[in-house]
Amino acid sequence: MSPAQVLDGRAIAKAVREQVKARVQTLRERNIVPTCAIVVLEGDEPGRLYAEQIAKSGTALGINIDIRQLPAGASTSDVVVAVAQIVDDPHVQAMMVQRPLPADLDAERIAEEIDPRKDVDGAHPYNQGLLVAGETFFVPATAAAVMELLRQPQVPTLDGARAVVLGRSAVVGRPVALLLTAANATVTICHSHTKDLADIAAEAEILVAAVGKPGFVTPDMVKPGATVIDVGTNYLDGHFVGDVDFDAVLPVAGLITPVPGGVGPVTTAVLLRSVVEAAERSR
Ligand code: NAP
Repeated sequence: MSPAQVLDGRAIAKAVREQVKARVQTLRERNIVPTCAIVVLEGDEPGRLYAEQIAKSGTALGINIDIRQLPAGASTSDVVVAVAQIVDDPHVQAMMVQRPLPADLDAERIAEEIDPRKDVDGAHPYNQGLLVAGETFFVPATAAAVMELLRQPQVPTLDGARAVVLGRSAVVGRPVALLLTAANATVTICHSHTKDLADIAAEAEILVAAVGKPGFVTPDMVKPGATVIDVGTNYLDGHFVGDVDFDAVLPVAGLITPVPGGVGPVTTAVLLRSVVEAAERSR
């Protein structure tokens, strides 16, 4: 069997950004500058790096990214006040609060303060509820990126496909499973209590790994010819690796995303697309 085709996240992200750029130009002709505020807590290094990546990419497209860093010891009410200021700012059409927040903060209370119309990372309970109901307004950017990859022409149809999602977090696993369900896939979610996980994974035509463990997905867990989407971003021995043992799974899978260069760049691009959507809806 020939090795899997690699789904090039950087090329897909570039195509998304080109569409976003044209929409930004149209907005700017109407004197609307798409603007997204990102709340980051001091000390959240991955969150800061992600925000800076969004800012770099967004600025190149004409999108204004306003990073609002709060002190490391900020309380729930400090974050709520910062979020409320953004909600009230008519020049800011989009917003997100970097997750995960420190365990001592009330993440639900903070999410409730976000304006659902500005909620480009799908954190507000209203947007989460729509997703559960099978509709979408704004969904978590990583989940949107997984679907963007799965909608590429070389990926077999999702309609009727057997899909397995490894991980059930609110930011990745659950929303991916709901979006796959909405796309008419038949979906199983696996987590740390799942029995016979490897056997279940091996039935999947679409396998999405969002576990946070390097090399978790081994070739025996992959159906020959399956599409494997690796969401994992794990820092190991000085570089980033995914949840999939890429080199070992490559000969078995049909399509596979690399790490880095897979889900990550697409996540930034689809987030910026959501910022533009929020700006377009704002008038
Ligand atoms: P998370 O909140 O830690 O969730 C991990 C999930 O994996 C949980 O549902 C957990 O099960 C499950 N799990 C953990 N160990 C397991 C095991 N041994 N067997 C089966 N299931 C297991 O992580 P997350 O936020 O969803 O992120 C997952 C990965 O994606 C991480 O590597 C993260 O860095 C990456 N990520 C990437 C992006 C991107 O844009 N590329 C964005 C966000 C996250 P339980 O629910 O039972 O605990």
